[in-house]
Amino acid sequence: MLTLAEGHRLFEREAYPADRNLYDELATNHRPVALFIGCSDARVVPEVITSTRPGELFVIRTAGNLVPPHGSVDAIAASIEYAVEVLEVPEIVVCGHSACGAMTSLALDHDLSMLPTVAGWLATAGHKRGDRALSDQEAVAQAVHANVVRQLVNIAEYPSVRKRLTAGHLTLAGWIHDIGTGRIDIVAPK
Ligand SMILES: [Zn+2]
Repeated sequence: MLTLAEGHRLFEREAYPADRNLYDELATNHRPVALFIGCSDARVVPEVITSTRPGELFVIRTAGNLVPPHGSVDAIAASIEYAVEVLEVPEIVVCGHSACGAMTSLALDHDLSMLPTVAGWLATAGHKRGDRALSDQEAVAQAVHANVVRQLVNIAEYPSVRKRLTAGHLTLAGWIHDIGTGRIDIVAPK
């Protein structure tokens, strides 16, 4: 595997010259076609799973693809507001995924006492323990699904999002990406 610096030298040598016109255009234009909110997990790469190119996706990645409830002032809320109000993205996707470490720790009640910041962050997900008769795998899948539904509710309550949804200028969708198969399941907003 290349180091990041070696990878960048390769980009400068091969990928950049091949797309020189695109980068010339992007140097002064920022018009993404969607806001993608996904998990920080390295295995779920938004541009790869959506076949998008530089300039097309405005991306927010957080542990567990959480969207803080409206009212918090943080980097995520600011990025959502900017994407919707200034960039006027016509589409938002909130994407969860299989084998999510964040959702696994919530679904299976992992001890996070050594990770107080992670514990505090995941507490904002509002996860409620599901049916205890479920297998671990089923409990995690249920948590992943319920979490995407909750984040769709949260983001729809942002005034900027609500305004453009009501006006019909924005669509909102929930996805669950299965890492092993590459499939996407659509999660209907409530
Ligand atoms: Zn994850």
